[in-house]
Amino acid sequence: MAPCKFRKFAPQSIERRVSIVALIVLTTAFTGCQQQADVAKREDVVDTTTAVNAEDSKTEERPGTMRESDKSEPGKSEPGKNQLAKVVKTDEEWRQILTAEQFKITRRKGTERAGSGEYAVHKNEGTYNCVCCGLELFASQHKFDSGTGWPSFDRPVRKEHVAEEEDRSLFRTRVEVLCNRCDAHLGHVFNDGPTETTGMRYCINSAALKFDEADETEEE
Ligand SMILES: [Zn+2]
Repeated sequence: MAPCKFRKFAPQSIERRVSIVALIVLTTAFTGCQQQADVAKREDVVDTTTAVNAEDSKTEERPGTMRESDKSEPGKSEPGKNQLAKVVKTDEEWRQILTAEQFKITRRKGTERAGSGEYAVHKNEGTYNCVCCGLELFASQHKFDSGTGWPSFDRPVRKEHVAEEEDRSLFRTRVEVLCNRCDAHLGHVFNDGPTETTGMRYCINSAALKFDEADETEEE
């Protein structure tokens, strides 16, 4: 009985085993293929994502790099800043290169009498430089007739060329304007300038300025 049973059982078992093995092999093969396909797909996705990311980072890098170069430009322009490195002289040295009036106004925070300065109604094309150190401060195209008797501008040539400080003298608070290179007192700035432009009025002493006539070729 037992061998017979074994014989009967055995072929069945072998068939079953074969079919099971075949199934397993097929399933494994299929699953393997699918997994490979899946992996391939994922790799595609990853590749695309990486590519997109790479492109993103490239596009981000470009402005980033530009920004960094922009950042490094002020670094590079540190020599430019060095141009604004303070010009420091003793009173005696200033007296040697300035008139008494220029010295009193720029180095002692004086104010010229209204209408007395040579640039109050001056209309020539050019730039107005610091009388002490020659730094370009104001331009004729920003000059307007304020009717105050002092040359008036709605803005400096470059913001960084002037310094502004609170001035509490004469029982009121005003904003003093100074040359940012040699600390020369220039005048004051008020917010009652021409509203069609900046609204600011840089009220400057003629004695603090030295006019530099524009080159005619530059004008044309
Ligand atoms: Zn100056």
